[in-house]
Amino acid sequence: MDKRDVKSMTDVELTAFVTAAGFPAFRAKQIRSFLDRGVTDFDKMQNLPADLRAFLKEAALVPSVTVEKRFVSAIDGTVKYLFRLSDGEVVESVLMHYKHGWSQCLSTQVGCRMGCSFCATGMEGLVRNLLPSEMIAQIEAAEAAEAEQNVRVSHIVLMGMGEPLDNYDNVLRFLQMLSEEGGVHIGMRHVSLSTCGLVDKIRRLQEENLQLTLSVSLHAPNDELRRQMMPVAKRWSVDELLSACRDYASATSRRISFEYAMIDGVNDSDECARELAGKLKGMLCHVNLIPANEVRGKDHKRSKAERLKAFSDILAARGIPVTVRRTLGADISASCGQLKRNEQV
Ligand code: SAH
Ligand code: SF4
Repeated sequence: MDKRDVKSMTDVELTAFVTAAGFPAFRAKQIRSFLDRGVTDFDKMQNLPADLRAFLKEAALVPSVTVEKRFVSAIDGTVKYLFRLSDGEVVESVLMHYKHGWSQCLSTQVGCRMGCSFCATGMEGLVRNLLPSEMIAQIEAAEAAEAEQNVRVSHIVLMGMGEPLDNYDNVLRFLQMLSEEGGVHIGMRHVSLSTCGLVDKIRRLQEENLQLTLSVSLHAPNDELRRQMMPVAKRWSVDELLSACRDYASATSRRISFEYAMIDGVNDSDECARELAGKLKGMLCHVNLIPANEVRGKDHKRSKAERLKAFSDILAARGIPVTVRRTLGADISASCGQLKRNEQV
């Protein structure tokens, strides 16, 4: 029998699970309260009767996330974790300190099947989806690892390993769990979800009407260039993607954040900037230029500082809000696109 992940269950599911096995419904509440307090060992759920504990040990599990390695940046204090999962797989996650508090970049999958040409995570393909509880557990594990400093994670970015919208149901459940009382309790306005642009899923997400920030990894202003960089662009054109983004922004009144990794000589020309400004005109959006990070085994180079400036000036002059993302954790390979299974610093 496959053991069920009780921590990912909704209250209704947990109650059904417990009552189907012949236990009263109120036991589900007790189990939830232990889980919320981080108790993962059923034997330690002491006010449960022995037969319920025995049942849980046989039929249920709580997936674990443990810190395998921890790297601290000497430059800016950014922390990168290599987390080990119950089945031995590993994912990376990054904890960053900003003026507004601690922000954690979480993984949603082991690997990724989207195969973007500039990204380390995609190099090995997809191994498996993470469960909702494994996403929550990354936050709990980071807070536990930084307990001495009393770190409370207040902001979440789904920009670690994996494509969140390729693991849609689990990510949605995770988002629900985030805002539940009793748990880690982080509001949706403090969450950013980054996608390479799965148009059908963006449209589905729009229906959920969540208050999170949607980041879309655009990286190129036209199909020809985008298809060279991102296989997903063969499935949906830039126009289809931007039309979904326009609808999303107007339906939710939430500004879309477009990520644009600046790669030397590839997508960083003045012409690209002008074309991009033309495509985004009139949309409730913001462009985040990311100086591309170098990845072992790939030969792309980061755009020069003057290119970043020129590109950003062209967008700004055309009325597109634009910022250049700060690079954090440069000495521990903790930046966008550098997270990798089996990666060591
Ligand atoms: N799969 C999602 C989220 C994870 S990747 C997505 O692609 O959006 C997080 C961000 O890092 C994305 O914007 C991605 O395009 C970007 N990225 C990937 N490789 C990069 C690299 N080498 N340099 C800079 N950004 C990179
Ligand atoms: Fe996957 Fe995002 Fe990397 Fe593309 S950039 S391979 S979608 S993790």
